[in-house]
Amino acid sequence: MDIYKKSITELSELLQKKELSSLEMTKYFLERINAYDSKLNSFISVNEDFALEQAKFADNLLSRKNENSLLAGIPIAHKDLFSTKGILTTCGSKMLESYHPPFDATVVNRLTKVGMVCIGKTNMDEFAMGSSNESSYFGPVKNPWNLTKVPGGSSGGSASAVAARLAPIATGSDTGGSIRQPASFCGLTGLKPTYGSVSRYGMIAYASSLDQGGPIAKSAEDCALLFNEMKGYDSNDPTSNYKIKEEKIKLSLKKENVKNITIGIPKEYFSDNLDSKISDILNVSIETFKKLGFNFREVSLPNHNYTIPAYYIIASAEASSNLSRYDGIKFGYRCDKPKNLEDLYLKTRKEGFGKEVKKRIMIGAYALSSGYYDEYYMRALKIRRIIKDNFMKAFENIDFLFAPTCPTTAFDIGEKTSDAVAMYLSDIYTTPVNLAGLPAVSIPIGFSDKMPVGMQIIGNYFSEEDILNIAHLYQIETDWHEKIPEEFNCE
Ligand code: GLN
Repeated sequence: MDIYKKSITELSELLQKKELSSLEMTKYFLERINAYDSKLNSFISVNEDFALEQAKFADNLLSRKNENSLLAGIPIAHKDLFSTKGILTTCGSKMLESYHPPFDATVVNRLTKVGMVCIGKTNMDEFAMGSSNESSYFGPVKNPWNLTKVPGGSSGGSASAVAARLAPIATGSDTGGSIRQPASFCGLTGLKPTYGSVSRYGMIAYASSLDQGGPIAKSAEDCALLFNEMKGYDSNDPTSNYKIKEEKIKLSLKKENVKNITIGIPKEYFSDNLDSKISDILNVSIETFKKLGFNFREVSLPNHNYTIPAYYIIASAEASSNLSRYDGIKFGYRCDKPKNLEDLYLKTRKEGFGKEVKKRIMIGAYALSSGYYDEYYMRALKIRRIIKDNFMKAFENIDFLFAPTCPTTAFDIGEKTSDAVAMYLSDIYTTPVNLAGLPAVSIPIGFSDKMPVGMQIIGNYFSEEDILNIAHLYQIETDWHEKIPEEFNCE
């Protein structure tokens, strides 16, 4: 039946019509993981017994109720920073190598309640710090389109698993691009929601003012279905936004209605940083949108070059505070035979954290230290405000923005590990959106040298329904989102 190719709606139909049980579907994807994941390393843990139990629960739901969520019985892979009760949750770190949380993250809880089946926890950069998945304690993840290339990061395991069709859909988190960049590198659709839309409760923190969970999927339609169940106000998360709409998103935009929509193209994003082949592919996709009837206008998002330094100061500052809890006392890794309390802290943190994480903690602690606070942290916050204001100014004249997701396609494993600046620059087009707290979706728009290229559709606050509708309309016209890497395109 080529189940691996099917959309969430198609899989759901099989379940609702009882042509397949959730147990059978879960076993099918577990078998794919067994057959293929040794090539990709996209999962940190797969708990088959737990998945099969959840599938039985889903089958029960499906047989009892007539009004089930479309997601009931559908297998999902969770990024390994979403806490899963009693199930290993490592955040890609030795520090949490044997951590079994005593509670579920709100996102996990919501999805379990509607009957989704967690088939495994996906690999990621350690504490979500990275753009290539190479900082994971559990080893790098490979890109299914070319096994010598990175899948992007930090949600690289989720992207690799969905691209190879080992899971029909996955969760990710995006602090500076970690949903959109891996989606772009792996030919997928990934949504970074408005800050505050998806609860952060139980999602292990990296940089709390930026972190946001969201879906990584094959299409905008699948993203909408998952986002509908992920979003919602949560009193357990103090930054949860009460303005988030409870109604479900509908994908109903018609071609007739797009003539009133104006898209802005930020001229600064199409500069020297951008690979010329990618810029050509972006232009082709813009032509497709023009044919659909959308209007385009050039806009300016000035001060773009300050984004990366501001992002890395703010994210590192927040990380240095968030990660202070891993001290060997409360939970997580503890070193052997410390000489005294100070030695316990020092050795635990020295042995438990990887190189990239330690670097960020040091940068962050430095930026927050008295004497440097004004010069670094405060200044970064001012830049953050300017970047947000620039977006707001742009949205006075246009409705949405189109932008490249990344300056290049997926790079080689090892290519940027010794050049931190080159690695950080791969987030140049994604981080502004996080600093402003806006929603954006990355969609596949073609290939350059056989590797997928992505484009972002950025909207104003709480415009997820609109940006997903625009993405969906494009995906009705094109089939980039249906392409599957050859090696994994078989049962
Ligand atoms: N690559 C960025 C970083 O390392 C973004 C990571 C993320 O969004 N979690 O901080």
